[in-house]
Amino acid sequence: MQYFIDVILPIPLERLFTYSITRAESEFLKAGMRVAVPFGKSKVYTALVFEIHQQQPVAYEAKEIHQILDDAPIITQTQLTHWQWIAEYYLCTLGDVLRAALPNSFLLESETIITKNNDKIINDVDLKDEEFLVYEALHHQSSLKLHDLISILDKKNVFPVINSLLDKDAIVLQEEVYEKYKPKLVRYVKLSSQYSESEKLQHLLEELSRAPKQRDVIMTLFSISAQTKKPVKVSDLSDASDASPAIIKTLIDKEILEEYHFQEDRVAYSGDANEASKTLNIYQEKALEEIQQSFEKFNITLLHGVTSSGKTEVYVKLIEEVISKGKQVLYLLPEIALTTQLVSRLETYFGGKVSVYHSKYSSHERFELWNNVLQNQPKAQIVLGARSSIFLPFHDLGLVIVDEEHETSFKQFDPAPRYHARDAAIVLASLFKSKTLLGSATPSLESYHNVKQGKYGLVEITHRFNDVMMPDIELVDIQDKHKRKRMKGHFSDRLIEEMTEALRVGHQIILFQNRRGFSPIVECTTCGHAPQCPNCDVSLTFHQYKNELRCHYCGYYTAMLKNCMACGSVELDNKGFGTEQVQEEAKELFPEYKVGRMDLDTTRGKFGYDKIITAFEQKEIDILVGTQMLTKGLDFRNVKLVGIMNADNMLNFPDFRALERSFQLMLQVSGRAGRTDERGKVLIQTYNPHHRILHQVSTNNYAEMYLEQMDERHNFKYPPIYRLIKITLKHKDFNKVNIGAEWYATGLRQVFKSNILGPEFPPISRIRNQFHKNILVKIPPQQSLSKTKKAIVKINNSFLSIKEFRSVRVILNVDNF
Ligand code: ADP
Ligand code: ZN
Ligand code: ZN
Repeated sequence: MQYFIDVILPIPLERLFTYSITRAESEFLKAGMRVAVPFGKSKVYTALVFEIHQQQPVAYEAKEIHQILDDAPIITQTQLTHWQWIAEYYLCTLGDVLRAALPNSFLLESETIITKNNDKIINDVDLKDEEFLVYEALHHQSSLKLHDLISILDKKNVFPVINSLLDKDAIVLQEEVYEKYKPKLVRYVKLSSQYSESEKLQHLLEELSRAPKQRDVIMTLFSISAQTKKPVKVSDLSDASDASPAIIKTLIDKEILEEYHFQEDRVAYSGDANEASKTLNIYQEKALEEIQQSFEKFNITLLHGVTSSGKTEVYVKLIEEVISKGKQVLYLLPEIALTTQLVSRLETYFGGKVSVYHSKYSSHERFELWNNVLQNQPKAQIVLGARSSIFLPFHDLGLVIVDEEHETSFKQFDPAPRYHARDAAIVLASLFKSKTLLGSATPSLESYHNVKQGKYGLVEITHRFNDVMMPDIELVDIQDKHKRKRMKGHFSDRLIEEMTEALRVGHQIILFQNRRGFSPIVECTTCGHAPQCPNCDVSLTFHQYKNELRCHYCGYYTAMLKNCMACGSVELDNKGFGTEQVQEEAKELFPEYKVGRMDLDTTRGKFGYDKIITAFEQKEIDILVGTQMLTKGLDFRNVKLVGIMNADNMLNFPDFRALERSFQLMLQVSGRAGRTDERGKVLIQTYNPHHRILHQVSTNNYAEMYLEQMDERHNFKYPPIYRLIKITLKHKDFNKVNIGAEWYATGLRQVFKSNILGPEFPPISRIRNQFHKNILVKIPPQQSLSKTKKAIVKINNSFLSIKEFRSVRVILNVDNF
């Protein structure tokens, strides 16, 4: 009798691959365990056992595996089922899913490069002989590949040694370019020790009677310390005493206060829960009850609650209930930028039961969390994560929460699997027979449509917490302002007025400038030439800070030009404006205030966001300029004014969702204003003050926006009425893409008739020297999705079997919006 296993290889193969195993191995192995296998001429991969059986493969002779890597499955049966759904639905391979799902260190292969972990001191005695040999070798050579290890150890099976070195954190794998973990530093103050004698203190207070504000700060410091008996944060002190950072700084400079820092550890929170969750107000209470009732009828419920209505506290109650039954909770967030505030909030309620999972964490951190979830450890009972956390090995998932469900960053665009985490999470919950709660102040049309179709339940909260009024939104016609010379740079007189007043009374301000469609392009005023990226069909954008021209598609950059490349003129003008320019202008308008900026360029790295968010929270920044990152669920107490610099580039974005997205973005940014007692103010600058969407934003009229947009989707056959699959062909040869796309589209038209759009070159048709051409398949509501996909796969296979097209890359993107 012969024994075989089918495995998933971490490469995009259409089928599973079969290897032969011994009888003993067949008794030991289970689906979900890893094995090291040879592949091709000389490669070694980590593969995942999918099935154990006795059928010899027909087409090839099965090779033997190198070895077994696990004692027990690291992937559950439920995960395998889930992965199969993902592969089928999103038209990708199980290998694609495997790669996306597992932390790198689980997937060693022949190409893996190993280096020493210089951040950790390893004691030689802690290493076994073979581990020591490898570690020693890394002292002399900065990096090693698998075959080096094979010769150092003189054996084929080196994975276990690597694994145990990884376990000990002694080595790292080189694909990881992760930012090292930096704990967050929080500023504290205490009274300088020279005043511990009461006489000296007395003297000090007398002296300060001439500086009442400074005296106030000291008195407040005493009363906070007396109350909390804990170190005092600078931010708490300045809140409680109403003192500006400048006053506290003066006291520090005069050596009356002493400043010190504590590390706030985020990855490993060891503290206990120290607060009971909040008592819900009547609206939240009602929402909670309605959600519970809704769950009796529906597997999925949408919580539509205006910004600052206290949705998070409602989630907390649901989470409490689920974890009290010993079940796990997955809390999905669009971007980890949000987690800083949320993690600390959840930790005060749930202590060490909260774990965060994110691709920016190092492979080692992710590996640890993976195991915690797999072993059902209490410290991973609540997983807070971005989209990739849907791949974790949950055991007993009791609830999925998808916060800010309308966010487009839940969809993965590249590489495959091109999944939507909200939708994949719903499927995951259903595999556990559990419920999913979607939450948003501005639900996606597709989720709201599902409510209207009777597929999801709906619960609403229309009151902000504490009955704070929705912000007052004012539209500013900048065309008119330009005509009447009432603009200073990109700031209208209205915006400047409101900013001046807000700053005067000590409020903070957010200025929003959308990144999409923004391009400070350099143009020659003499001949009109704009410098282009040599690899892509786009103009380079100007980055003032580094005085560089950059391509946002391929990363190409060059120093800013002194003369026009075409005519030599020195009169180069930068058109358009971005966050950087807004920041510069704001600094000039308000030189005595601190202006910060939050966008992709200022927040690179794991803790980039944190620094800016913390600085803003602690009022070290008065005016924060940012992109859509600012829209996301952040809770800043002291912001009373939000300025949207230009609404038009959002509204005019060439995409069928542009208006829906504009509505969501603007309402979300507006929601950052006036979250506590006073009513906030929002100014939207626009050339189209009569645009319907802007009116819907200013009156917070979701219902009208929904109806009007759905009309458009009906008329133009777009989601959520029709479904979409986008097919992209890529090649460096323009003709090949062109001819190939024609062939492909003709094949599709024979089956789907007029529901095929294109082939069409996208606005940017060449990226990284590859030409792109798109074909769009529109799927009417009655048409079977699975049959449609089968037909596409068939056409795809015939396309790739044609010799001249074989080198063309085809990308299938299901629900590509
Ligand atoms: P949303 O997520 O709906 O925008 P949040 O959950 O962030 O709203 O709540 C807004 C603010 O109100 C937060 O600062 C939160 O701490 C506070 N809050 C919400 N519910 C309560 C409650 N029941 N008791 C006290 N404070 C609350
Ligand atoms: Zn020129
Ligand atoms: Zn480029």
